[in-house]
Amino acid sequence: MDNRHFPNPEASIRNSRSAIRNQSPPGLYLHIPFCRTKCPYCSFYSQTDLTLIPDFIQALEREMEMFGPAFSIPFDTVYIGGGTPSVLSPPQIGEILEKIRKKFTLAPSVEITLEANPGDLDWPFLKALRELGIHRLNLGVQSFSPEVLSFLGRRHTSIKACEAIEASRKAGFDRLGLDLIYAVPGQTMERWLKTLGRAVAFSPEHLSCYQLSLEEETPMGNAYRGGAFGFPEEEELRQFFLATSETLERAGYVHYEVSNFCRGREHASRHNRKYWDHSPYLGLGPSAHSFSERVRRWNTSSIKGYLHALYGKHHPTEGLENLSPEQLRTEAFFLGLRTADGIDLDEFARNHGGNLLREKENILRRLESEGLITIQEGRLRPTRAGLAVADRLALI
Ligand code: SF4
Repeated sequence: MDNRHFPNPEASIRNSRSAIRNQSPPGLYLHIPFCRTKCPYCSFYSQTDLTLIPDFIQALEREMEMFGPAFSIPFDTVYIGGGTPSVLSPPQIGEILEKIRKKFTLAPSVEITLEANPGDLDWPFLKALRELGIHRLNLGVQSFSPEVLSFLGRRHTSIKACEAIEASRKAGFDRLGLDLIYAVPGQTMERWLKTLGRAVAFSPEHLSCYQLSLEEETPMGNAYRGGAFGFPEEEELRQFFLATSETLERAGYVHYEVSNFCRGREHASRHNRKYWDHSPYLGLGPSAHSFSERVRRWNTSSIKGYLHALYGKHHPTEGLENLSPEQLRTEAFFLGLRTADGIDLDEFARNHGGNLLREKENILRRLESEGLITIQEGRLRPTRAGLAVADRLALI
């Protein structure tokens, strides 16, 4: 997309500063666009030429200089994702954190999270991350089944994942999140529940359980469309979802968003919540998205384009959209129905106008009688069965 037709993104963010002042603290996201190998199902932007890492870090600093001054409220979350941030060395991660601390104001309570591939982790690396001030580690375990890991094209083994989790604990990480994938072709319910059981045995503070998504333009998506393998039917997917939710709740986890579980509310992802409640966030790095007030902006999904833009002192924005009040309202409804807290009806009316209950009374009462939502004490909440079909609920 040609960004010459968009307003200046820095100005858009600056203009909305007064509105930010009335909102929750902003979050900072960094997209590290490197992976050692590409997994065939992945549609996130990353590439495998690691020689570009030093140039990327310099460009990142320039992007921080461009956008940092627009945020006067301290950031209370920093999320380093990607890609695979753990392909960087501890000194490189330290250099990035130092630049962040220099260019942005961080809240004293800031929570810094880093995503990591278990294949990259050993005790000295993890110890160094703790010493650099990383509070929270999110490990892309995906499965403990060798067959599933091999189908997903992951470069770590199940044994390596266990070692990485144990080493993380030994290095002092007391906020540990594990990402897992279910509904992988060939994966039985029994095998999935075994993976879930092994994950729970480590007592991670957070678990994200995602259904495999066969995206277009990925090698796995193309293989599926070419008939190379089948994919579970809708009812089977629902059973996977319900079994996941029931198993984890029995193990003491709170199912607080469609794909997310925490061991106590204090362990819910503070950063991800910002994506769900329209809090402001600044995304840096190729393909990163930012949101502030009603402006959504995203960077070019090309490391070369990103470096080129920043070395030429241009912003790496690829696109920008100004959401209308109606679009914001629709999104708030959609995102609210994906969380167990659901929608506070008074707050929704204050922020977006109208009366949801009156507007959608017939359909909401029908969903309530079908056991998909509850309407109690001024809140519209999805039930577990409702969370299983949250995307469809939002279309009402
Ligand atoms: S390691 Fe993660 S970001 Fe990289 S290709 Fe695999 S799934 Fe995608």
